[in-house]
Amino acid sequence: MSKLYVPTLRDDPADAEIASHRLLQRAGMIRKTASGVYTFLPLGYRVLSKIENIVREEMNARGALEIMMPALQPSELWHESGRWDDYGPELMRLVDRHDHGFCLGPTHEELITSLIRGELRSYKQLPVCLYQIQVKFRDEIRPRFGLLRSREFIMKDAYSFHDTQESLQETYDAMSDAYGTICNRCGLEWRAVEADSGQIGGKVTTEFMALADSGEAELVYCDCGYAANTEAGACIAHPSVHAVDRLEKIETPGIHTIEELAEFLSIPTSSTVKALSGKDEDGGLTVLFIPGDHELNEIKALRAIPGFELLTDEEMLAFGLHKGSMGPIDLPEGARVVADVSLKAIPQWVVGANEEGYHYVGAAQGTDFTVDAWADLCVVAPADACPECGCALKGARGIEVSQVFQLGDKYSKAMGATYLDKNGKEQPFIMGCYGVGVSRTLAAIVEQHSDDVGIRWPLAVAPAHICVLPLDVKDENVMKTAENLASEAAKLGFEVVLDDRDERAGVKFADAELIGWPLQIIVGKRSLAENKVEVRRRLTGESGEIDLDVIAELLSFANKRMNDMSRGGVTIFETLFS
Ligand code: ATP
Ligand code: MG
Repeated sequence: MSKLYVPTLRDDPADAEIASHRLLQRAGMIRKTASGVYTFLPLGYRVLSKIENIVREEMNARGALEIMMPALQPSELWHESGRWDDYGPELMRLVDRHDHGFCLGPTHEELITSLIRGELRSYKQLPVCLYQIQVKFRDEIRPRFGLLRSREFIMKDAYSFHDTQESLQETYDAMSDAYGTICNRCGLEWRAVEADSGQIGGKVTTEFMALADSGEAELVYCDCGYAANTEAGACIAHPSVHAVDRLEKIETPGIHTIEELAEFLSIPTSSTVKALSGKDEDGGLTVLFIPGDHELNEIKALRAIPGFELLTDEEMLAFGLHKGSMGPIDLPEGARVVADVSLKAIPQWVVGANEEGYHYVGAAQGTDFTVDAWADLCVVAPADACPECGCALKGARGIEVSQVFQLGDKYSKAMGATYLDKNGKEQPFIMGCYGVGVSRTLAAIVEQHSDDVGIRWPLAVAPAHICVLPLDVKDENVMKTAENLASEAAKLGFEVVLDDRDERAGVKFADAELIGWPLQIIVGKRSLAENKVEVRRRLTGESGEIDLDVIAELLSFANKRMNDMSRGGVTIFETLFS
């Protein structure tokens, strides 16, 4: 420790809102250079390298080949794919001294497609899967949470090329399997969820989520195994009917929100119908209706109504619509009514009357109004029905640590990347891409494995396995015993740190807990007089005195078990304490 550069901090950095951001800085593992830009200090870099190696092993084991592409990418490639314009301000753009446009790669579909086109020529060479572990740049609108959402970060990105959909599916399944294994080896509690493909493109995609309350993603999951990002998941809401004898227009003065309306009528929000107005690609008015207790999913709306955009308040006024009291009866001429499929089963709606201060109860579908089209429009929420088994879904928050995509021929077609098939005919490659956020994974591990005083590294990614703490470095016997123990353990193959600093015991303990060494061996004068040392397990806080004569034997046994179990989640410490 006297030679390691580990500048621990006593206080929390002011801007750190979540555990990983706070603890990684306090434990002297990372330092902020600029907003969303971080340096990895020696211990942080050791952990990062361990995660990289886990990822590398799982990629290599599945036949993927490691390469290294440049971060600096010529703009022409991005013009070819159309993403120079589509990607928006997140793309870090720059111009060289000759006035050539470049970007700092946020992802590498364009570069890899240009790399293989013209050289990967025959169906006989397929499939091919190439990957790299490299720095990525995204000018995030809101960099935050330290390594979780940064502007410069480490990603493992893999790209595969195929001649058939079956071949793509095979690699996609192998990569998905690798991603689950990587999460397991990093000690993460995770779920694979149905997702939306966003910027990257393609249709089939799965996200791997580390469960954490600090996660930005909302998920729903079911005991049957189904799980989805709420951005993407199918929604089966169950609205309820507020049954009345006939259509009735009621005065609802000052009532504009669903909550106010439900309270006014003493009915649940699920018995009301929410209306949202928008325009389609031709500027035509479309009014959407969804159950009152749900939110509109704009991605789904866009899929159901090409070009869909919510109206601004001024646009609503121009159409003669009343915000807070819109309904399907007496809509402006030509307006299209699109409703969430769940409302099909609701014969009478509680809904706005298209008149300020009025709503309808008992508005009858088919009699008082008609719906032009039905679609899945809502953000799925906990308690909705599981689309696979019908049980009530549960909710959780997650950190997206990785994602796999089936791209199809989006990039190969746009960029003219073709191979010759069996009949000597040019065909565009079928592609897949697969990304692991390596630095984000590091932060996710800390989110799941920490407490008030510090980090509790899982053994497989800990900066070292054991820290030996001599409490009085000036005592020759204490120091010698500590040094012997450290070198014995190192000889057995453990990664060992010796805290040889001339510091108070309190300082050493606090640092050891903060940094989170999985095992501490404490050598103090008092216990040494009885030929004992204290052993502390960070994961559980368990501690106990162990006879010096048996500790070497225990370590040797533990090490054997560790090697046996290096791919499992079991730690050496269970062994040490059993
Ligand atoms: P997000 O939705 O969180 O912005 P994304 O879906 O845009 O991420 P991908 O394009 O799927 O990200 O990139 C692959 C992986 O790279 C992600 O699963 C994530 O782990 C990581 N990643 C993406 N953006 C960032 C970022 N700003 N900081 C750290 N890691 C990131
Ligand atoms: Mg993603």
